[in-house]
Amino acid sequence: MNKQDILQLFNKNYGDRYEVYISSIKSEDNNYFFLAKDKQAKYLVVVGKPEEVKKFESNAPEEKKIDRDELIIKICYLNNHNLNLLRGIFPHLNPSFCGLRASFGTGDRLGIATPAHLQAFAGKHIFPILAQQSVREMSRTERNWQKVLDDAIWGCFEAGYEGPFGADADHVKEIKELKEAADCGFTMFTIDPSDFISKDTEELNEQELNQLYNKIPKNKEIENLYLNKKFKVDEQELIFDEKSLKKIILTYSEALNHVVECYEFLKDYKQNEFDLEISVDETPTVTSPLAHLFIVSELQRGGVDFQNIALHFLGDWQKGIEYIGNVEEFTGEFSLHAAIAKNIGGYKLSLHTGSDKFSVYPIFSQETDGLCHIKTAGTSWLEEAKVVAMKAPALYREIHRFALENFAKDRASYNLTTDLSCIPDIDTIADDELVNLFKKNDSRQLIHITYGSILRAKNDEGKYIFKDRIYKILFEYEEDHYRELSNHIRRHLELLNK
Ligand SMILES: [Zn+2]
Repeated sequence: MNKQDILQLFNKNYGDRYEVYISSIKSEDNNYFFLAKDKQAKYLVVVGKPEEVKKFESNAPEEKKIDRDELIIKICYLNNHNLNLLRGIFPHLNPSFCGLRASFGTGDRLGIATPAHLQAFAGKHIFPILAQQSVREMSRTERNWQKVLDDAIWGCFEAGYEGPFGADADHVKEIKELKEAADCGFTMFTIDPSDFISKDTEELNEQELNQLYNKIPKNKEIENLYLNKKFKVDEQELIFDEKSLKKIILTYSEALNHVVECYEFLKDYKQNEFDLEISVDETPTVTSPLAHLFIVSELQRGGVDFQNIALHFLGDWQKGIEYIGNVEEFTGEFSLHAAIAKNIGGYKLSLHTGSDKFSVYPIFSQETDGLCHIKTAGTSWLEEAKVVAMKAPALYREIHRFALENFAKDRASYNLTTDLSCIPDIDTIADDELVNLFKKNDSRQLIHITYGSILRAKNDEGKYIFKDRIYKILFEYEEDHYRELSNHIRRHLELLNK
């Protein structure tokens, strides 16, 4: 029997009820595995010998002997047990180490975007980080590490993808969380030490600065390593003068101690090679080239083997919209960062809040010679909300009104310049024009930052107000969902010139 025969057999028995994802069909040792859907949900179908089939869990009574070879068809649920069996049979379903390859992260808040993301990556020499979620996002979406990873892997299975991919536990602040993510099989860890970076040093006067500085353990030892040292980068010379060095030590040294601690934990705990990213992007201060030099030098001195570093780059990086700022100025400063990274070598520069920053992508890619990582997340959610607006305008209107009510509360954790008064009254917009809301910054951000409230909202009976309906629409219009989303991510990837 080959795949075609199996498909025919399945369709003969079940074709009236299930539709097969043809690209998902895989075989191993005369057992066959693929994804199928009915009107409500997706299922794993296992066709094979009884001893193989019985390992897979299913509550459904669907089990059929289909021929004299005693092949059995079993319709199984997409649960963790079944996925682990598949991962054992097909090692390509396990996330892996990326290292110094150009890479791109596609956060997926709903957990159904991976097949669309994979379409966008097709033919591109960019390593996809398909599972990527921050601790903050998980609490807002009520997901957990296992679910985030499993959803991405089911997406790989559905698409029939056999290439490599990564799984990034993003913006992790505590060792406990690193451990949980490592236990679930994440291969990349983004350590966010921002809790140890408390003050904006620009606001301090000299006395305050010195007072705080004197409390830093080993400050003199660190100072001696850098004070008045010159570093030639490109045609420029960077020097740690006393004042800037003190500020830099004050800003980053405790944070870097925390990173070293996290790294040492991971190194001992993880059996396999892993990617490590250090992110200081969510800090009040822009990371100067001098601070970049300091951070990397200190990480190396601490023995930290890291692959990526996310700095707080010049400009205003807001969620889900274009870069705000002077692109020329950004280019000037960024080329210095890129030169530092090249000089030191062995790591990539990482851009967070990378959704829709089309104007800076070519610069990011060119200046780093492609040694870069980019993270996006919200833009995929926005495409999904856009598809809801296209296919279920009444539902979108409800979501939109709800988002307006929750915006003031939800904006607190974001840097935004959103002006709600610039968003037209939704009652004046025709159904087929709702989609235009996704072309404007203010309405994009309205939906972008309220995702957690939207997805968690429940009525008096404890039922989700929007979440289930959003999933239902995206399931029903899966082709549109995948098309819109993959086109949009593709726009990002095209600019990386790969
Ligand atoms: Zn970040």
